[in-house]
Amino acid sequence: ERLSIPAISTGDIFRANVAGATELGTQAKAYMDKGEYVPDSITNAMVADRIAQADCENGFLLDGYPRTTAQVGELDSMLKDSGLALDVVEITADAEAVVARLLKRAGEQGRADDTEPVIRRRLEVYAESTAPLADLYAERDLLVQVDGMGEIDVVTGRIMEALASRGITGS
Ligand code: AMP
Repeated sequence: ERLSIPAISTGDIFRANVAGATELGTQAKAYMDKGEYVPDSITNAMVADRIAQADCENGFLLDGYPRTTAQVGELDSMLKDSGLALDVVEITADAEAVVARLLKRAGEQGRADDTEPVIRRRLEVYAESTAPLADLYAERDLLVQVDGMGEIDVVTGRIMEALASRGITGS
């Protein structure tokens, strides 16, 4: 909202498809419930389809994508076609703080994958498959890191500052 661009969460799109019992939802659910990543082929096709829509023409915010090196490569090709530039924000937080936050969210939202064993598996998968992508983006000079420890409004302020440092500001 602040940047007047659509926010696209791959997790939200998967959850909407699970709720709507679509073919995509059925495929994704088996992985999501275990805390594993949905296969790249499915995820990449879904993102390509979403960012090809007219509201993404002047930019968009991706939340939860890319998460694997194959997704990084696919995103590069998608952006090449669109002529848009990329900036990457990595929000860091202590693992135990993340577990506590997601257990709190479980009580509020009832997400199927917010159980302690699945949360811990998601953190492992993140460490294995996604954390290394930060180095890759840092080498390309596209990365800003934000300390995610603290209250929501404080962390939000840090994210807006980090974006401003990359020349991205709201209108
Ligand atoms: P999130 O809402 O971002 O926490 O994502 C919830 C779940 O959706 C993840 O644990 C994965 O199973 C799946 N998912 C979301 N984004 C991706 C992605 N980029 N690649 C693979 N799986 C994903």
